[in-house]
Amino acid sequence: MAKLNPFDLYDVASLLSEEELMIRESVARFVDERAMPVIAKHFEEGSFPAELIPEIAEMGLLGSSLEGYGCAGLNSVSYGLICQELERCDSGLRSFVSVQSSLCMYPIYQFGSDEQKQRWLPGMAAGEIIGCFGLTESHGGSDPANIKTHAKRDGDDWVLNGSKMWITNGSIADIAVVWARTDDGIMGFVVEKDMPGFDAPAIKHKMSLRASVTSALYFDNVRVPEANRLPNVQGLKGPLSCLTQARYGITWGPIGSAIACLQEVLDYTSDRILFKRPLAANQAIQIRLADMARRITAAQLISLQLGRLKDAGRMQPTQVSLAKWNNVRMALDIARDCRDILGGSGITTEYQAIRHLLNLESVITYEGTETVHQLVLGRELTGINAF
Ligand SMILES: Cc1cc2nc3c(=O)[nH]c(=O)nc-3n(C[C@H](O)[C@H](O)[C@H](O)COP(=O)(O)OP(=O)(O)OC[C@H]3O[C@@H](n4cnc5c(N)ncnc54)[C@H](O)[C@@H]3O)c2cc1C
Repeated sequence: MAKLNPFDLYDVASLLSEEELMIRESVARFVDERAMPVIAKHFEEGSFPAELIPEIAEMGLLGSSLEGYGCAGLNSVSYGLICQELERCDSGLRSFVSVQSSLCMYPIYQFGSDEQKQRWLPGMAAGEIIGCFGLTESHGGSDPANIKTHAKRDGDDWVLNGSKMWITNGSIADIAVVWARTDDGIMGFVVEKDMPGFDAPAIKHKMSLRASVTSALYFDNVRVPEANRLPNVQGLKGPLSCLTQARYGITWGPIGSAIACLQEVLDYTSDRILFKRPLAANQAIQIRLADMARRITAAQLISLQLGRLKDAGRMQPTQVSLAKWNNVRMALDIARDCRDILGGSGITTEYQAIRHLLNLESVITYEGTETVHQLVLGRELTGINAF
């Protein structure tokens, strides 16, 4: 019998189309050749690898699921595979693409006017315009219905006041899709970086997602023209539908982190000799490695089926919650266990496990905390909203 691929035990590759396989391989090559060699340095320095943006754009990875406006028009499974390969390198790299694609380009594409789409989407697909998404506020991200940032109509403008917290790409963004309360409910505005009264300072001292920019956004009487309001959306369903898109990609990403960690400890435990034999020869180690492979396999099948449902137009937010909860928890546990198996070496960035472990502490919190996704599933099962 043919030897199984330890990172694809159920031959998920055989369920992918030629095009999906080709996309996965080309992103994997980019990650191995261009991103992996620089990522540990960026993580240590707390800088985002902006030098990779032109190649990421060239490969069609920005807004890859959108059609027209210079976007690749790929299916959802392809988008998932892109996220998986990028996160095999670092959650920060995947976060950049998730936010640009699902949280900034998607709302402009879905809720914007023709002029807004023409104005921003081609530049965003080319990586020349960077975007961010401002929903969370410091007083409680899990409860977005309680946002306080507000916009008041004044002639042809809206006057925006308030603040946002924990915004990926904020300080490097040219535009921010900002969700604000108005007299007619929550609306989305495209705020441009040079608008007077707008500031986006980076949040310092992060121990997680260090190779990603995270910022606060401040709005002090920012005048936003009516032409920058997204005309085709009103209410919380707007930002929540963007989050469903992004979370779908996030279900795939941590599979990449987990594979990177498992690959590293498989090499390490076969080379490291303790008590006169390879570490991998111990039952206690093999059980831990087997458990990692089991959980990765389950996550791969969950995300693939979720992607097929999405491409068939049948994916539901509760299914995304289950996948985000399962797959991020899987990767976080695996990264932690791999860190331990690496012993003292596991605490340095010479090995990947601790970087993935620290990154995944953000991934389990953002885009709906683990608890919030559990409560979504609980509501589905019981019909009772426990939020
Ligand atoms: C690195 C990073 C990047 C981010 N990027 C963005 C971005 O680009 N745009 C954006 O808008 N936001 C972004 N976020 C914000 C993120 O979505 C929020 O951090 C998240 O929603 C949680 O909100 P919070 O931090 O205010 O925690 P809280 O909502 O205060 O939650 C604190 C704790 O309470 C728990 N909890 C909450 N409600 C309940 C309940 N009813 N029952 C039981 N437990 C509960 C939570 O699970 C959590 O453990 C980012 C966050 C991070 C860390």
